Amino acid sequence: YDDRDGKIWLDGQLVDWRAANVHILTHGLHYASSVFEGERAYNGKIFLSREHSERLHFSAGELDFKIPFSVDEIEAAKAEVLAANGLTDAYVRAVAWRGAGEDMGVASARNPVRIAIAAWEWGNYYGDAKFKGAKLDIAKWKRPSPETIPVHAKAAGLYMICTISKHAAEAKGCSDALFMDFRGYVAEATGANIFFVKDGEVHTPKADVFLNGLTRQTVIKMLKEKQVTVHERHIMPEELESFEQCWLTGTAAEVTPVGQIGDYTFEVGDLTKDIVASYEKLVRS
Ligand code: PMP
Repeated sequence: YDDRDGKIWLDGQLVDWRAANVHILTHGLHYASSVFEGERAYNGKIFLSREHSERLHFSAGELDFKIPFSVDEIEAAKAEVLAANGLTDAYVRAVAWRGAGEDMGVASARNPVRIAIAAWEWGNYYGDAKFKGAKLDIAKWKRPSPETIPVHAKAAGLYMICTISKHAAEAKGCSDALFMDFRGYVAEATGANIFFVKDGEVHTPKADVFLNGLTRQTVIKMLKEKQVTVHERHIMPEELESFEQCWLTGTAAEVTPVGQIGDYTFEVGDLTKDIVASYEKLVRS
């Protein structure tokens, strides 16, 4: 992703894609003092754009730093990036981090906080699993306690176990891994939330120890508007066997059906197909 034409917005101005670099002694690189957003533009408009910018500010606050650009300024910058790269349908990545500077220890109060925004075309996150149903492995690692790490921030440090779990899943021929949390409840995938269907009702893990995704919130609202009962609750892994349908939600993942988790299988049923289609319509409306 580093060697291509285009423009990236870095600390207030557009720079050439290949020149959007940081120093090797960047604090964020050494200590994960970094937060980010994943957003999607459809027909030139970023879905829930402001909510994403607000979450970026929130995540930075959780990591005890302040982004030196307001939500309004970030909104303007995202529009600038899409225009400069001639994109209408794209993935947008905003990232903010503690940079290089006076400090090189764990403490970093004197280093500048930096921010960048890039955008590129990104098709289906799970490839053809979008239609067939993704196959998920069960991750060895658990989502951590909110007393261990700020679990509601979209922060780089929370993704360390995501990358290793996704690699392990892919090595087994799966598209992704499903995490349990530190208590043993079903939590989320490495970059998406999860939903289940049983007897016409929807069950989804309560977002008390992981990112309450904007797509998750959108889909819950959509289900309620369709008069579908939604249970946000603690789900035990033993229950997976009893669910008939399953899908993942996330900005990159959008709504992706799940066909298998470990040895359990799910059908890509009518409600799943309805939610995939309704979400696609909503983001373009
Ligand atoms: N959980 C994790 C770990 C994620 O990375 C994401 C993607 N941001 C989500 C859930 C879904 O969040 P959203 O719907 O806001 O993209």
